[in-house]
Amino acid sequence: MTITRREFSRLAAASAATSFVPHAFGQSAQRIRYAIVGLGRISMQHFMPATKGSATTQVTALVSGHPEKARRVAAVYNIPESSIYSYENIGKLRDNPNVDAVYIALPNSMHAEYSIRSAEAGKHVLCEKPMATSVADAEAMIAACKKASRKLMIAYRMRLEPTTLRVREMIRSGQLGTVQGIESANGFNIRAGEWRLNGKLAGGGPLMDMGVYSLNGCQFLLGEEPTQMFATASVIDHDGRFDEVEENLSWTMKFPSGAVAACNTTYGAGMDGMMTIHGSKGWLRMQPAFSYDGLHLTGRINGKDIDEPVAAKDPSQFVREAEYFAKCITDNTTPEPSGEVGLRDMKLMMELYRLSGRIKA
Ligand code: NAD
Repeated sequence: MTITRREFSRLAAASAATSFVPHAFGQSAQRIRYAIVGLGRISMQHFMPATKGSATTQVTALVSGHPEKARRVAAVYNIPESSIYSYENIGKLRDNPNVDAVYIALPNSMHAEYSIRSAEAGKHVLCEKPMATSVADAEAMIAACKKASRKLMIAYRMRLEPTTLRVREMIRSGQLGTVQGIESANGFNIRAGEWRLNGKLAGGGPLMDMGVYSLNGCQFLLGEEPTQMFATASVIDHDGRFDEVEENLSWTMKFPSGAVAACNTTYGAGMDGMMTIHGSKGWLRMQPAFSYDGLHLTGRINGKDIDEPVAAKDPSQFVREAEYFAKCITDNTTPEPSGEVGLRDMKLMMELYRLSGRIKA
């Protein structure tokens, strides 16, 4: 991604605006210092500004293929030139005592290599979703982090989001009764030219990018893993965008309790992220369900309407994520979602591709 001067000024302003609002979500005693690997949209617009508003995390190094951009970002975050790395020399992080962890925000197929090299350099790894583009890569990431005694977390940000946690609690406590079915959708209409349409870099289409929220979310809410799945995929727009990845993928999952989830994902339409959960006592709906803020919960349980105010923006999902992983590091606890959660989703996504005919058995 190239960043224009105008975009850069906007990011600098966003970062300045959050500089004096410490949150300390998770109350970690020691500041955890992140190296950011990949200066694209998610890191520049969300994760890095979040650390500016955090009392327990900080960005102290950058890994980028664009030295000039890295220097400009470094100036905003007071990062010395000596803490700017290229992809080639990421291993030199080993010699930087001011970095505890890395945040990997690269195209999907690069997650494994840079997570492994970071762990080998002695750093804890917070890696964006999807964890990787193959089961073998996901397993190698777990093995590398284990070998180096470093923590590995997959950035499933909804698992720390208050509305999602509230719905999960309402299900777990029995308020919704027996869950019978879930509907979930998530997608957007993609522009041509994105790396997300490149099979080698993305590993797959909207399932890997957007559908993974439904896949992971259903399991998180139910506390179960699917035992039976059906899937189908399609391409409607033959305009060159979907030569290498699917445009649409729809699937169902049956869970051990008998609950069935029906999910849709697309790169061909603006599909508002949504989850509706139907239980024997009523229903709950999060819409939007996966956005960075503004999650809205409605429903009806035992004849009583539910319309809960949108969860507060502050602390942002990214502050929660950065601080939660920091706390796992300082407290020496295993992050949840762990690498194993990411691996499980990788296995399920590969199975969905096989079932839908996108990859041969
Ligand atoms: P982006 O295109 O904005 O940024 C990608 C970064 O990788 C850029 O800095 C780019 O320079 C770098 N890069 C290095 N090699 C590259 C190559 N060969 N081709 C393209 N870019 C290359 O992407 P993004 O939207 O920031 O996504 C990055 C990762 O974050 C993806 O894995 C994506 O799934 C994930 N993501 C997560 C969320 C979330 O909410 N958790 C949201 C968006 C993206």
